[in-house]
Amino acid sequence: MDLPTDERRTDAGEKRAGNEAPTDFIRAIVSKDLAAGKNRGRVATRFPPEPNGYLHIGHAKSICLNFGIAADFGGTCNLRFDDTNPTKEDVEYVESIQEDVRWLGFDWADRLYYASDYFERLYQYGVELIRRGKAYVCSLSADEIRTYRGTLTEPGRDSPYRNRSLEENLDLFARMRAGEFPDGAHVLRAKIDMASPNINLRDPTIYRIRKAHHHRTGDAWCIYPMYDFAHGLSDAEEGITHSICTLEFEDHRPLYDWFLDQLPVPFRPQQIEFARLNLSYTVLSKRKLLQLVTGGHVTGWDDPRMPTLSGLRRRGYTPEAIRAFCDAIGVAKRDSVVDIAMLEHCVREDLNRRAPRVMAVLRPLKVVIENYPAGEVETLEAVNNPEDASMGTRRLPFARELYIERDDFREDPPKQFFRLAPGREVRLRYAYIIKCVGVVKDERTGEVVELRCTYDPETRSGAPAANRKVKATIHWVSAAHAIDGEARLYDRLFVNENPGADKDGRDFTTFLNPRSLEVMSGCRLEPSLAQAAPGARVQFERLGYFCVDPIDSAPGRPVFNRTVALRDTWAKIEAAGKAG
Ligand code: ATP
Ligand code: MG
Repeated sequence: MDLPTDERRTDAGEKRAGNEAPTDFIRAIVSKDLAAGKNRGRVATRFPPEPNGYLHIGHAKSICLNFGIAADFGGTCNLRFDDTNPTKEDVEYVESIQEDVRWLGFDWADRLYYASDYFERLYQYGVELIRRGKAYVCSLSADEIRTYRGTLTEPGRDSPYRNRSLEENLDLFARMRAGEFPDGAHVLRAKIDMASPNINLRDPTIYRIRKAHHHRTGDAWCIYPMYDFAHGLSDAEEGITHSICTLEFEDHRPLYDWFLDQLPVPFRPQQIEFARLNLSYTVLSKRKLLQLVTGGHVTGWDDPRMPTLSGLRRRGYTPEAIRAFCDAIGVAKRDSVVDIAMLEHCVREDLNRRAPRVMAVLRPLKVVIENYPAGEVETLEAVNNPEDASMGTRRLPFARELYIERDDFREDPPKQFFRLAPGREVRLRYAYIIKCVGVVKDERTGEVVELRCTYDPETRSGAPAANRKVKATIHWVSAAHAIDGEARLYDRLFVNENPGADKDGRDFTTFLNPRSLEVMSGCRLEPSLAQAAPGARVQFERLGYFCVDPIDSAPGRPVFNRTVALRDTWAKIEAAGKAG
């Protein structure tokens, strides 16, 4: 039961062998750059989250890619907070992001940076652009700027402020910084080309006034740089060689390069775009995930139904499973949607190897073994993991009164039902063959409340007569020894495959699955689970993988989250694909 819950990666830093073929197009670019002696043999990447929410599984793809490339090529990967939007950001997010990156198994060593560290440098870059005649202070309103910008089919129009003098621009920019103007009164804009077919180049805003408290710089600033300006220049400041981002920034690359061309930067990074991860039955946008939290649709960012790393962790996912998933999905240049069954497959594969098996009865039905002596207790031996003999065995108490799963009994069994029924035999896992000889019902409701059974003493597991054939083996716990617990059965959060992009424009919350959580209380668990540590992961035999909820469990009364059920739909999809 003492599975480590916080496994760190130990193989990082291993250099890719020169003769090994790159596994994706970005690694191919990095390989080629190294072979050509570019960047003097240096590889430097960064993971640049904005601290405006918790990290999700999409971010894991980016983290694995950036840290993975650095590890493969003996380079470095920085963690950099893109904290240029103070009204949406918070230290809570800064802290959770660091925890999540570490938990995934990556280490930025002493390379933790913040775009806000560069605010003074960025301001000076703004001044420099003005000096070079490449930026101006514009006093149009936000709406006017939008109108002047034009459309995809129509060119924009020059702002009437476009030709302000250098002195006036310098003076206004300084006074913007000094706090002389209200929000929205002026912006600093790059002076590029209002007729450019690329809208990103139509004099984009690079600084705006926002009299907001920043979680790191406090009230030192009331003007904040825009993402496109801050991002590339931060990359340049840090000497990033390969600045990897998602596809929607492809159209921003000319702007990324423009700033680097205009300014005396210490280094010239290269932006490379890849397809973001989309997952079926899931939304992967911090804005939408925040909406789920604030709207009370989930219990928090770490609700086990959330696709956040903190949610997946609480659900029982391992960092190894998430990294295996990121490896499996690969890195492409075209957007696609990954089947969530594949993520579930990865965690199942990992837990199959490492999770100890235990017996837990979620919907208990009492069984009394009439020919078993009252008061007697026998100890049986059970295998902890058939996949791994080194995990050993444990002892299970067996006695006259047991609980089995209500679903494992049918008074009137349908054709394909081979488990317990009146007059039928089944094997109790690690114990005996029992036969149902009577049914006790609630007089008023007619509900089955107890089964009367007999056992065959010759059939104890491992004994010579044990291999007598019966059609089913079921799990059980001893009534007197079982502990009480709660199980939370999670299902997909959405019923729609693509909740974020409805054809009829319905809001994604329309598709929330009303049955995404089923709470089972009064579950009866084998006694070894009394010692289960918070976060410990186990397989409830025949039911699924579960982990001890680290927050809601109490000593002696654990709460178990179902990570994933045992049935593997992805393996089926794969098998069908191979067959067809
Ligand atoms: P969101 O849309 O969820 O708000 P974001 O891109 O605004 O995401 P950032 O904090 O800016 O969030 O992201 C940090 C890094 O993670 C960026 O380099 C971004 O490209 C990458 N990233 C974000 N979402 C995904 C995704 N779904 N797949 C792959 N990478 C992603
Ligand atoms: Mg972003």
